[in-house]
Amino acid sequence: MIGAGSGGLSVAAIAASFGVPVVLIEKHRMGGECLNVGCVPSKALIAAATRAHAIRAGDPFGIERGEPKVDDGRLRDHIREVIVAIAPNDSVERFTALGVQVIRAEARFTDDKTVVAGGATIEARRFVLATGSRPALPPIPGLDRIPYLTNDTVFDLARRPERLLVIGGGPVGVEIAQAHRRLGAEVVVLDAARLLPREDAEMAAVIERALLRDGVQLRTGVVIERVEAAGERVIVSLKGGEGPDCIEGSHLLVATGRTPTTEGLGLEAAGIAYDKTGIKVGRSLRTTNRRVYAVGDCAGGKAGPYKFTHAANYHAGLVIRAALFRLPVRVDPGAIPRVVFTDPELAAVGLSEEEARAKHRHIRILRWPVAENDRAQAERATDGHLKALVTSRGKILGCAIAAPHAGELIVPWSLAISKGLKVQDLAGLVFPYPTFSEVTKRAAVEFIRPGAQNPWVRRIIGAVRRLG
Ligand SMILES: Cc1cc2nc3c(=O)[nH]c(=O)nc-3n(C[C@H](O)[C@H](O)[C@H](O)COP(=O)(O)OP(=O)(O)OC[C@H]3O[C@@H](n4cnc5c(N)ncnc54)[C@H](O)[C@@H]3O)c2cc1C
Repeated sequence: MIGAGSGGLSVAAIAASFGVPVVLIEKHRMGGECLNVGCVPSKALIAAATRAHAIRAGDPFGIERGEPKVDDGRLRDHIREVIVAIAPNDSVERFTALGVQVIRAEARFTDDKTVVAGGATIEARRFVLATGSRPALPPIPGLDRIPYLTNDTVFDLARRPERLLVIGGGPVGVEIAQAHRRLGAEVVVLDAARLLPREDAEMAAVIERALLRDGVQLRTGVVIERVEAAGERVIVSLKGGEGPDCIEGSHLLVATGRTPTTEGLGLEAAGIAYDKTGIKVGRSLRTTNRRVYAVGDCAGGKAGPYKFTHAANYHAGLVIRAALFRLPVRVDPGAIPRVVFTDPELAAVGLSEEEARAKHRHIRILRWPVAENDRAQAERATDGHLKALVTSRGKILGCAIAAPHAGELIVPWSLAISKGLKVQDLAGLVFPYPTFSEVTKRAAVEFIRPGAQNPWVRRIIGAVRRLG
């Protein structure tokens, strides 16, 4: 195993539990991106921001609202403590106890079946690459001459930004933008396209409205011409969109996607092909070297478009089946959910409306507003809606939910898609009352609810009219 992040740790733990001798090589931090500079610190930051926001939002509940006082040092401690609390699961000690030989060094192939790392030479039946990714940097003139933040540094600031400029309106950019706004910063998000361009436009618009309501400034459809430093400040010159051509801030965050880690691995020596999407793999996650698999963020080709911890875990499960049990496997990204952890959250699985229309002649769209949910009313969190795409027979093509806890609410839709259940199955399920999850039931019932277009309903209406 090369890389001890989400993908590598999963493969190593499962393989070791089957008694397979495993060598796990990590050059930097155990736990990789997710634990140290990704999911975990970002969700800890968001949790702090949610607390700050609640202080401002008490009014409708009859609770006097106030302006939260944020202690920067304790905020940083909170983020670090959350990482420390989870770190033992990913530690050298835990993996050594599982029987894994952990080597803390950079790994490199010397030929198609040999890896060297920290003075050790390792020959193995199977290799798995799980080397992850790093922030992709856009070719903006001046960027190489000024200090800027990425996800590697933004969660460990000694002082919070007072005015944060965020380049990139993808999931990482919008999550951090909203969190820092709620913690008291002025925030401007800049993007060449719209926010969350990979998500259904109708659903992304819900998140855009939420950010604007929080006071995040959005400049979409802009071209950034250059960035420069002016003393302690950063100045961004841009073209397009509405607003001034020059904006300044105390900090600049670059959140413009990820580049798979392929360098320094000796891939050429091992006969492993790669391109800018990552290490080329087929549907079974095998690389062009039959001994070697690739999982997680570093895997390109047919590995699927989603770069998430749960996608890396899913890959890990497939590789275990293929490499240990010689079972045929095929990556199917169709049931992998994706979540943007804003407030409200945006979760989606399967096709967007545009993709569904491109593939199917007739689709039905089922929507249900969060405002029609009793729990949402009680919590005064009525923003958002569910949108499901189904065929006329009820096959589920995709679902997107903008709602509180949408990341939890999407799970039955993932299950339904992966197991081929129909929307009628969800309509027939009993959901506990009052829960946000009832939005799923109500949207699904829309499918079978008799509408004015239903011939039976038209017959009954006609009969009633004739009667009187
Ligand atoms: C800000 C942010 C928030 C995120 N939030 C979420 C979220 O909420 N939910 C979610 O599912 N995903 C989230 N992600 C994505 C998630 O972090 C990644 O998809 C996941 O960590 C990828 O795991 P991986 O195992 O492929 O790679 P990584 O976790 O990056 O691990 C790769 C490891 O390989 C090591 N390595 C590389 N080259 C070598 C070498 N030559 N020798 C030895 N070791 C090497 C690296 O040091 C690293 O530790 C987020 C990402 C970011 C940036």
